[in-house]
Amino acid sequence: MKLGAIHHIALTVSDMERSEAFYNKLLGFMGYEQGEKTEQLILWASSHSAMTISPAKQQFHQKCDRYSPGLHHLAFSADRREDIDKLYQELLEQQVTILDPPAEYDYLPGYYAVYFLDPDGIKLELAHTPT
Ligand SMILES: [Zn+2]
Repeated sequence: MKLGAIHHIALTVSDMERSEAFYNKLLGFMGYEQGEKTEQLILWASSHSAMTISPAKQQFHQKCDRYSPGLHHLAFSADRREDIDKLYQELLEQQVTILDPPAEYDYLPGYYAVYFLDPDGIKLELAHTPT
């Protein structure tokens, strides 16, 4: 692991069952496997990173607002553009909210990404940048 690489990401969700189904598909697509599972935490891990979800307190069941302080969005890496197109098709089949379909964006030369929402409205991205 390189110093400063993201070790794991922990999200809070309003509905564990709904988010487990969503992240099982998304993280499974990217090679993560589900590990530890308790009422308070579900963990997925890959060879290089890990992610957990935990339940929100009952009074905090509003959608995530990326323009409030906190997380704006979370971007995963893709080795190839085709992975982004393939995920996009799966997201459409699952009726996931798409914010921006796969396209080249101006951030870097060849930057190719899709943007979508998790069940709590957290903005997610799968991006490919040519090396
Ligand atoms: Zn981004």
